[in-house]
Amino acid sequence: MKKTLLSLITLAAAGFASADVNVYSYRQEFLVKPIFAKFTQETGIKVNTIYLKKGLAERVKREGEQSPADVIMTVDISRLQQLVDMDIVQNITSPMIEKNIPAKFRGDKWLALTTRARAVYSSKDRVGKLPEDFDYLDLAKPEWKGKICTRSGKHPYNLSLIASIIAHHGNEKAKMWLQGVKDNLARKPQGNDRQQVKAIKEGICDVSLGNSYYFGKMLTNEKHPEQKDWAASVYINFPDQNTTGTHMNISGAALAKYSPNKAEAIQLIDFLTGDEAQAMYAEVNFEYPVKAGVKPSELVASWGTFKQDSLSILDVAKHYAEARAGIIFYANKITVFIYTGLVLRAIFIRAYRCIDI
Ligand code: FE
Repeated sequence: MKKTLLSLITLAAAGFASADVNVYSYRQEFLVKPIFAKFTQETGIKVNTIYLKKGLAERVKREGEQSPADVIMTVDISRLQQLVDMDIVQNITSPMIEKNIPAKFRGDKWLALTTRARAVYSSKDRVGKLPEDFDYLDLAKPEWKGKICTRSGKHPYNLSLIASIIAHHGNEKAKMWLQGVKDNLARKPQGNDRQQVKAIKEGICDVSLGNSYYFGKMLTNEKHPEQKDWAASVYINFPDQNTTGTHMNISGAALAKYSPNKAEAIQLIDFLTGDEAQAMYAEVNFEYPVKAGVKPSELVASWGTFKQDSLSILDVAKHYAEARAGIIFYANKITVFIYTGLVLRAIFIRAYRCIDI
């Protein structure tokens, strides 16, 4: 009784009615709202969504058994795995999920809804299209010294790429690669994937790492038309075509552990795996559908087909701890370097003051 009353209070506080389905989403409103509207139109089930930029998993954990969350939507296997590790999601399956989502794109407690490639962008003027046999490992070669831009290595997008390199080549080789890439950076890692393409346009660097859908988002950006110019200055390249295939990551969904509207939640997740929703993901956000037979958008299709890494995304996830350790190792080296620099500067200032006196 007490629990029921508390649940009602929580739901009322969150503005949710219990017959609806409640979504906590890291995915943005412009993308999922039209898909949810279609679902409501077809099923009569209302979708209440909380859009979050951070702290989603922590919030669900904190709410515990009283959480109104039914469905959690997020990006990157690292974040989906975090939901599992924090024990805030439950097993999910349905005939529709099994039919629509290939086995390599689902775990017991999560499923992928779209895929995206970790591409390499190259300057049209200074580099051109990268050769067919270009690999991620090539980014560590001395010829790229001072020419690479990337966002932080600690970001899930890069951690996943590093984890996949560990999975394919082992820890030692991956560490050497990280050191090589770090040595080749044109500037300290900063900004998001789009900012790196901007830096290529500005001549700060020649190549960058970035997710594939950003190319589509920049090329069609009416709100910030300058992004069209950034994108027009680069080629999109899909590395590892003669080896293991381009690293793919996912966006996905999971069923909250204490989902109060489980039947409706599964209905919504089923819908997200279907033709209609998959096509909307492809059109609105330039991602690759996971359901076989659903085509990517025309623009995405124009970038060509390519070999995707066949490694299971779960095998990639197994290497997160090592990927993080690798990044922290190099981050610490940078810290030591900065610290040494500060000490030298302090000594210099002291020496200067002495001279001055
Ligand atoms: Fe993104």
